[in-house]
Amino acid sequence: MPNRDYYFNTDEKSVNVRKAYQHYLGQVFTRLGNDSVKAAATADKVFQLETRLAKASRKLADLRDPYKNYHKMGLAELNKLTPSFSWPVYLKNIGIQKLDSAIIGQPEFMTALSTEIKTTPIEDWQNYLRFHLVKSSAAYLDSTSFMNAFVYSQTLRGTKQPKLRWKRVLDAEEGAMGEALGQLFVKEYFNEKAKQRYSQMVENIRDAYKERIAKLSWMTDSTKKKAYAKLAKITKKVGYPDKWKDFSALKIDRGPYVLNIHRANEWWFQHDLNKLGKPVDREEWGMSPQTYNAYYNPSNNEIVLPAGIFAVPGMKDEDLDDAFVYGYAGASTIGHEITHGFDDQGRQYDAAGNLKNWWQDADGKQFGERAKMIIRQFNEFMPVDTLHVNGDATQGENIADLGGLLLGLDAFKKTEAYKSGIKINGLSPLQRYFLGYAFGWLNIARKESLASQLKVDVHAPAKERVNGPMVNIPEFYEAFGIKKGDKMYREDSLRVKIW
Ligand SMILES: [Zn+2]
Repeated sequence: MPNRDYYFNTDEKSVNVRKAYQHYLGQVFTRLGNDSVKAAATADKVFQLETRLAKASRKLADLRDPYKNYHKMGLAELNKLTPSFSWPVYLKNIGIQKLDSAIIGQPEFMTALSTEIKTTPIEDWQNYLRFHLVKSSAAYLDSTSFMNAFVYSQTLRGTKQPKLRWKRVLDAEEGAMGEALGQLFVKEYFNEKAKQRYSQMVENIRDAYKERIAKLSWMTDSTKKKAYAKLAKITKKVGYPDKWKDFSALKIDRGPYVLNIHRANEWWFQHDLNKLGKPVDREEWGMSPQTYNAYYNPSNNEIVLPAGIFAVPGMKDEDLDDAFVYGYAGASTIGHEITHGFDDQGRQYDAAGNLKNWWQDADGKQFGERAKMIIRQFNEFMPVDTLHVNGDATQGENIADLGGLLLGLDAFKKTEAYKSGIKINGLSPLQRYFLGYAFGWLNIARKESLASQLKVDVHAPAKERVNGPMVNIPEFYEAFGIKKGDKMYREDSLRVKIW
């Protein structure tokens, strides 16, 4: 199941998912040739093994501290940590000739795994691996295999019907060779003018951030200087990569669909292995250009902004007004990703992308106190039934949303569109700015899907990502005339002020 909590939580939604998963396990073992009694017993063994592994796994919020999740070990140390697992044999079999060290995220998990290897019968491990091979291939096999997996996934997402087949196949192509499709996408949807518009917007937002840092009352000058240096060094990647990945070694043929997918998986595995021992390729993109998403990578100190995130369905970029775009793209994407460089995790990396503290202690403490306010604010939200947002696990994203909205606004205030005050469709520039931001989160989610998101995702649901940051911003009250007693009013003493 998606993460450890599903094995232990007692709320109704989690219990339903657990039941469906156990049922699915049984179905798979029946289809693998076992009679119903044997299939049920095997399913139970695999489920028990997974439960023990889940118990040894960290909770979502415990993955946030990069120091606690970074343990560099040499091979000798690794062997000592997991005496039942032969690293040399494993590394040789997957094609690694030489390895000096490895980074282990959760040492206590590795210890538990080593114990399980020793105490769990080999037959149970074989069945565990068999099941996961079938499960991960189910979408590319016959319709019964596909539907069995789909019925289980309904308890996670609440989806009534599978996506149409052509859409699923397109998704699979995306996963296998997204950059090959991306070259076609940008030709059609992201021209040179758009690339220039958003590259310039990054610089306007970078300037706004610098001015904002200068005005902070809680940060000392020596930390500010380091913050400016880090900000200036953030690399921007806008639209699409300068150098495309070469998929010519990937063999696609008219044989079974599932084998094409497996070959693509092998291609990516080799692609990653080939990086071992070489300098980091700073040109590489971790998302394809047509992706509706973006990211900040702390160890490269870079923001990556695929063309897809700037696209508004049915609209040409040149027809979108600045007020809307500064909210839609400037705040929720560019400002958001830049702020990730200075959220609870990102701030721990320096300008060169190394995990190295550059903060004065007092400033770090001040930041922590302010982050606590946003944790408290988001813990209050209850998007489905009695399930709350996890303020701790989602704090980095919420800090980035709030920062993004403020930076987008600062930069927008310098444009003609803001200064002219001209209304469009009856809305003031400030109103259109906030509307543009909210537009990026237009979304319908089923209850099951929201319940899953609250457990596995470090992003709060879309509605909370709009309402949460906005109530902390004075201009939002000004734009819509919000007063004490209104639903969106938040006491000034409770409003979060970080960047
Ligand atoms: Zn983010």
